[in-house]
Amino acid sequence: MKTQQYFRPTKAMIDLQAIQQNVKNLKEFLQPNVQIIAVVKANAYGHGDVAVARAALEAGATILAVATPDEALHIRAHFEEPDILILGASPVSFAPYAAQQRIILTAFASDWIQQAAPLLVNEELPLRLHIKVDSGMGRLGIRSEQELVELYETIQSTANVELDGIFTHFATADEENSTHFNQQVQFFEKCLSVMPLKPRLVHASNTAASLVKNSHLQYDAVRYGISLYGLSPSPYVESILPFPLKPAFSLESELVHVKQIKAGESVGYGATFTAQTETWIGTIPIGYADGVIRKLGGQEVLVDGQKVPIVGRICMDQCMVALPKAYAIGEKVTLIGQQGQHVISIDEWATKLETINYEIPCIITARVPRIYF
Ligand SMILES: *Cc1c(COP(=O)(O)O)cnc(C)c1O
Repeated sequence: MKTQQYFRPTKAMIDLQAIQQNVKNLKEFLQPNVQIIAVVKANAYGHGDVAVARAALEAGATILAVATPDEALHIRAHFEEPDILILGASPVSFAPYAAQQRIILTAFASDWIQQAAPLLVNEELPLRLHIKVDSGMGRLGIRSEQELVELYETIQSTANVELDGIFTHFATADEENSTHFNQQVQFFEKCLSVMPLKPRLVHASNTAASLVKNSHLQYDAVRYGISLYGLSPSPYVESILPFPLKPAFSLESELVHVKQIKAGESVGYGATFTAQTETWIGTIPIGYADGVIRKLGGQEVLVDGQKVPIVGRICMDQCMVALPKAYAIGEKVTLIGQQGQHVISIDEWATKLETINYEIPCIITARVPRIYF
């Protein structure tokens, strides 16, 4: 594969060894024979789906999961072998493509199966399906045993479709209180008990359910997303992790201009920052079109091992920082990651933006190249 050349110094550095270490630790944590489903939806949570999928498969994951048909096709174009599961809804029109490409779809409605059936009559391979049980997430899935039995029978009586799995998803697994979680488990177990035949793959846990609520919920496979990337699903999970997770994502750039401004001079749109004394200002080529959204104004970045604040409004393509002294053009700037003894974590950004860490690498846009090491 030809490596593209990038001239702008702004880049996301993805530590594939960290991802492999996380997969290995997760695998060791699981009972033998429990498969790891590596969740690489949304371009692997912004880390780059193909490189992450390759690293995860090498480290012991056996199945890849994505959210959409297009993500699945993108993965399949790079990996011929592994099972790929689409966790979200797929349109009926995708059914023959899924059969041809050996992509497993999520099933939750008998109507869908009936509409897909005529599109599958000429396919050589059966379309494989995992039934989704809505045990309390309220998103996708059958919501009663009756619905489950109806869907099961529709699948069994339809040519060219094959039941390969059944799964559910937890809404509160990252919280200390287990009431809702336990209700979900109960309903899922009830669903399993009314299945005339257990399909190949029963799976329920995501990162939080697996790391917090533990082993009886491993079933045949566990779907790991956020933990692959070295992040905790919530501060509660972080506080009780059974082993450390290693973050894989850092965000870097360089100073492209450095100058001293006088007291009373200002910086940026709206002239919202005014220097109180003579101040060194550095310009960084990264802005809100890269995902460094304007709400991050005031956030610190690392320069020469020190924390320095973003000053003034963040522009579309650039932002400015206040420096303690003059630095040369090309001085490294770390927006997320480590320099010396300081770390600016994805969690720090998430707190600043009043969101969860999952959202942060996802909002770093495609203009920022992902560089693997
Ligand atoms: C995204 C997703 C996961 C992964 O969850 P993490 O919290 O990132 O481990 C698992 N299952 C489903 C259905 C998902 O949508």
